[in-house]
Amino acid sequence: PTSALPDRPEERVKVFVRIRPTKAEGETGGAVRAKSGSKGLVIFREHANIPASEFEFDKVLGPSASQSDVYHAAVKPIVEDVLNGYNGTLMAYGQTGAGKTYSLSSIAADAIGMIPRAAAEVFSHIEQDGGHEYSVYMSYVQLYMELIQDLLRPESENLQIRENEGGVFVGGVHQQEVQNITQCLHLLSLGDRNRTTAFTALNAHSSRSHAVVMLTVIKRRSVSGTGEAEIQRVKVGKLFLVDLAGSERLKKSKSTGLRANEAKSINLSLTTLGMCINARADPNAAHVPFRDSKLTRLLQDSLGGNAKTSLLVAACDAAEHVDETLQSLQFGLRAM
Ligand code: ADP
Ligand code: MG
Repeated sequence: PTSALPDRPEERVKVFVRIRPTKAEGETGGAVRAKSGSKGLVIFREHANIPASEFEFDKVLGPSASQSDVYHAAVKPIVEDVLNGYNGTLMAYGQTGAGKTYSLSSIAADAIGMIPRAAAEVFSHIEQDGGHEYSVYMSYVQLYMELIQDLLRPESENLQIRENEGGVFVGGVHQQEVQNITQCLHLLSLGDRNRTTAFTALNAHSSRSHAVVMLTVIKRRSVSGTGEAEIQRVKVGKLFLVDLAGSERLKKSKSTGLRANEAKSINLSLTTLGMCINARADPNAAHVPFRDSKLTRLLQDSLGGNAKTSLLVAACDAAEHVDETLQSLQFGLRAM
């Protein structure tokens, strides 16, 4: 039996903005600047050094922020929670090229991303905790055009969401037991490879699908019962790490056929996601439309008030992208 988790006050979604460094060619930087004090951000309009808009978030991570800075601000508290049997979610939102995948999945030695960092922290915690037994399972899926596809078992390309007393889950998804960070990294790269090869027949470019890594941590403690058999205390925490589809607006008039349908399903899922996280910030929200998209249905148990949720808005400081950047920042602001 899973021991009941203590009730605690609902928390809103924490919103972090990360500004990636400007690229050398083809971009004019400086349109988005972090203010000193780490919460504020200013948008400068093209050609005029006049501050156009100012915003405040839980934290703004400027171009010189390291992956470790991002991890400590946005992810570490969630991982600690998951190790105690709560669910938690980290989502990266932003236009294509703004730094979502770099932030989440980089395996460059000097820039390890949030997913490997989170997994490493889980295993180092387990190593140090002699009082419990742990099992860790990893799944990796993508959501493309409202289909859930198993990146670890690409033959499963239309998985269904199910629900039982334990909550919402993906029926039939491959759950691989993992014992160390090396195994996690192997599964990540296998999933990424499948994402770009197995699913190309469906034309599912990675910027047009959501990628979701799920880590399930099961924590057991044996307590000797009164004279009889041992009683097992079990806690299950689920961590979702979500690399969302690019949020850029596709030109409606120009996209037809497949592109138009992709755009429609991305809009549906990102709009529904926005409504679900806005509802959490609004104590009077009556209806939370989790069921309106597969993405929000999948994340339902990990977007509720008892689950810690961080939204990482990936932005670039290029003047060329300032309108898209404003749209991304507004998505973040509405969650607060
Ligand atoms: P997205 O996943 O949002 O489309 P990427 O993560 O692929 O964007 O980033 C686009 C490019 O910018 C990549 O070449 C990536 O390595 C680089 N990049 C993104 N963020 C940073 C950063 N904080 N520091 C250095 N390079 C970055
Ligand atoms: Mg990407």
